[in-house]
Amino acid sequence: MNLKIIKGHIIYTKEKTQFEVCKDSFIVVNNKKIVGVYKKLPDKYIDVPIIDYGDSIIIPSFIDLHIHAPQYMQMGVGLDLELIDWLNKYTFRSEEKFSDIDYAREVYPHFVKALYDNGTLRSCIFATIHNDSTYVLIEELRKRGLSAYVGKVNMNQNAPDKLIQSTECSIKETREFIESNSFSELIKPIITPRFVPSCSSELLKKLGEISCKYNIPVQTHLSENKKEVEWVKSLFPKNPNYSDVYREYNLYGREKTLMAHSIYLSEAEIEMAKQDNIFLVHCPNSNMNLTSGIMPLTNFLDKGIKVGLGSDVGAGHKIGMQHTITSAIQCSKINHIINENERSLSESEAFYLATKINGSFFGKVGSFEKDYYFDALVINSGDKLINNLTPLEQLQRFLYCGDASNIIDRYLEGQLL
Ligand SMILES: [Zn+2]
Repeated sequence: MNLKIIKGHIIYTKEKTQFEVCKDSFIVVNNKKIVGVYKKLPDKYIDVPIIDYGDSIIIPSFIDLHIHAPQYMQMGVGLDLELIDWLNKYTFRSEEKFSDIDYAREVYPHFVKALYDNGTLRSCIFATIHNDSTYVLIEELRKRGLSAYVGKVNMNQNAPDKLIQSTECSIKETREFIESNSFSELIKPIITPRFVPSCSSELLKKLGEISCKYNIPVQTHLSENKKEVEWVKSLFPKNPNYSDVYREYNLYGREKTLMAHSIYLSEAEIEMAKQDNIFLVHCPNSNMNLTSGIMPLTNFLDKGIKVGLGSDVGAGHKIGMQHTITSAIQCSKINHIINENERSLSESEAFYLATKINGSFFGKVGSFEKDYYFDALVINSGDKLINNLTPLEQLQRFLYCGDASNIIDRYLEGQLL
């Protein structure tokens, strides 16, 4: 036994319908995992030292299911364009620079520090096509003690020459990447075709084979923008819909699959998402910034589809997941005003998506229930007036108005980072 006890106002979501709020309570942690949350500490733990955070709130740490590391320097830039123009004018240019490993050494430490500062202790990250720069990213994550799935991006068409590889080269480097000794229990590889237009059918097929053979999850983009959906239709006219292209090549539904955006899904695709139990990843800031659209989130949730949240930096302009949580709520309210058949998202539900649903991609993560990994943020505004609010009001205040400076401690798998 390697016990520790953490005390404060403990808040988490076991169910999406309500917050569990435990004022002045104790979390008992054994090694990496939670033993229990107690209002009164059981006698058997009386000799275990207590880390007392006073009037701070303690919440599960954040998980981001969709973020692009090379776009860190691009956050907030060029957001007056829509997806395809934004990719061509800004994004591909910033990603090209990562052919230079020295540039990666300059930028990635800042990106990883921003994840750490903002309490995003686990994430699913798109890097670029460049393996060497991506190893730099992984090394930075390792130094900070963060957990992630990291993807070398695959592209063999419809992008500038500097960002496309031959099918052979893309596959060879993907194999080298996943077989490299960069990975660990905390940092794992993920197969990452950028999106259908960037990949030929041959490349998609081979990536599907690798994902199956090595049992590695998949992350990509799906139905983000109406023009993109039309483009996919023209590239793959035989497939009944966008999702079916991924499914045909075994990049959909096996083990764990993350499909970012998923705004314009047909009824058949909605049924597929449910049947195959994939993660759709809602990225509201990005969808508003690039005028992409609004995912019918609550309709999806009410149909029993699994939806997580992503910042989608750099089309999203904020790394802190509290901004994605609140913008998911705001987006759903606008959607409800436009269409009364779509209800708005509650606060507890949005928090549940960002913690317990997002965490489920990593295992027993994102809640303070027994046997979950103890991944936590300790939050204190440092302002006596705010600390006099109820614990739940303190959390609401942090979600809407807080920033990284309010996070005073971070725990991943029981360890203080
Ligand atoms: Zn994206």
